[in-house]
Amino acid sequence: PSMNHEIVRRKVENDMQEFWLFVKSELNKMKGLSAGNGNLLSKINSLLANSAGFHRTLTNDLKSLSSMDGMEDWRNNESRELGELIQRRFHYIQNPADCSKAKKIVCNLGKGCGYGCQLHHVTYCLMMAYANKRTLILESKGWRYATGGWESVFQPLSNTCNSYNSFSLRSWGGMIAKDLKDVQVIELPIIDSLHPRPEYLPLAIPDDIGDRLIRLHGDPSVWWIGQFVKYLTRPQQHLVDEIERTKRNLGFKNPIVGVHVRRTDKVGMEAAFHGIEEYMAYVVEWFDILEARQSVKKRRVYLASDDPTVLLDARKLYPNYEFISDNEISKSAGLNSRYSDASLRGVIIDIHFLSLCNYLVCTFSSQVCRVAYEMMQTMHGDASSYFKSLDDIYYFGGQNAHNMEVIESNVPRDDSEIELQPKDLIGIAGNHWDGYSKGINRRTGKNGLFPSYKVQNKVLRAKLPTYEEVEY
Ligand code: GDP
Repeated sequence: PSMNHEIVRRKVENDMQEFWLFVKSELNKMKGLSAGNGNLLSKINSLLANSAGFHRTLTNDLKSLSSMDGMEDWRNNESRELGELIQRRFHYIQNPADCSKAKKIVCNLGKGCGYGCQLHHVTYCLMMAYANKRTLILESKGWRYATGGWESVFQPLSNTCNSYNSFSLRSWGGMIAKDLKDVQVIELPIIDSLHPRPEYLPLAIPDDIGDRLIRLHGDPSVWWIGQFVKYLTRPQQHLVDEIERTKRNLGFKNPIVGVHVRRTDKVGMEAAFHGIEEYMAYVVEWFDILEARQSVKKRRVYLASDDPTVLLDARKLYPNYEFISDNEISKSAGLNSRYSDASLRGVIIDIHFLSLCNYLVCTFSSQVCRVAYEMMQTMHGDASSYFKSLDDIYYFGGQNAHNMEVIESNVPRDDSEIELQPKDLIGIAGNHWDGYSKGINRRTGKNGLFPSYKVQNKVLRAKLPTYEEVEY
């Protein structure tokens, strides 16, 4: 398929999705207005049910179209080939022939935050290493999740080069960019404090594979970030065994939907509370669509949460669904002495199985779910649409400005909406998942809502080293 064919096909998919979110939301609002009018209410309900049927069929038609003429195979191969190319480059940069002469970047894992947040910190560090052709040295002794460090669970980032001479250490912030070239060892600040800010930070993708990525994938930035996460989290053998054991014990089988419910410290601070029904509405819809094209013996859900009461609620409210969850397993298995903090095993396992699901329902305000979504991309041709977030659109913490490009003008219908003209750039703040998105028009400086279908994602391409010396 040509580049444009794939871009247009995904646009149709996306427009249809936005259309359905819009119709569903408007009809539900009308239900609220129909109070006391039983006839109107039943008319709206049948309209909703019929529209859901149209949506199901259209979704499955588009699915057939996307796998026609071997296109799904092509996508899988292309993603694998590109992935292998990038992994070879990581291997090359991380294993210099002479470590004593190699240029290095040093990062410390001690960022005071959760596992997902720390993994994203290291992701950014490896990205900086890739962009500057330097070997990443990760300092992780005394890690809050495992005092033995990163290598307690994951393979070392290098087989040849894991130390540096601290005399040649300079911090990124203390020098101007052009002088950094001559410094042997650079220490990086956290992404939010990085100045000057290079253009290659997320959500940019590397220009040299840009055409292939944009043709392949609906959200190339996530695919790109997923490759870093994949390299970083190559498991030690004991973790491979633990994952296999858990898979057997859980009876993990596809098709399955992954649900991540982030509660405890996050609620009220960085995210809103969402009841299990909000997540399950999308799970039900996903299985309804699947069942329209194939028979489904059991509707299976992998449920991950930091709140153990969610599983009980889910089982009570949805008796026809099979909920499997690592929470139960990890409690009965007891603590694994390898981890100083037992929660490390749990979060690694949860992210792993969430990423193996066919569809993910969660809140992208949580790094746990964003990591799972990133890893998901490394296992499929294009899994960019295999998710439903109840809050944010995808982002990488500390990313450069994320702009959308206007493709159709908008005349505001009321004060909540903003004016759009073709080619305007919109700094995107979020999708309300009801047909509307919110953002700031960079031309007018106005903030507000607009129909989501009137903009399209603007993928930034950055010049990065092309690694010609790495064998193809
Ligand atoms: P965020 O705070 O949700 O954005 O993600 P972080 O990973 O930065 O911090 C949340 C931490 O809470 C995780 O690292 C885990 O330790 C824990 N956590 C959150 N959700 C889950 C879950 O579903 N399963 C497990 N095992 N731990 C979780």
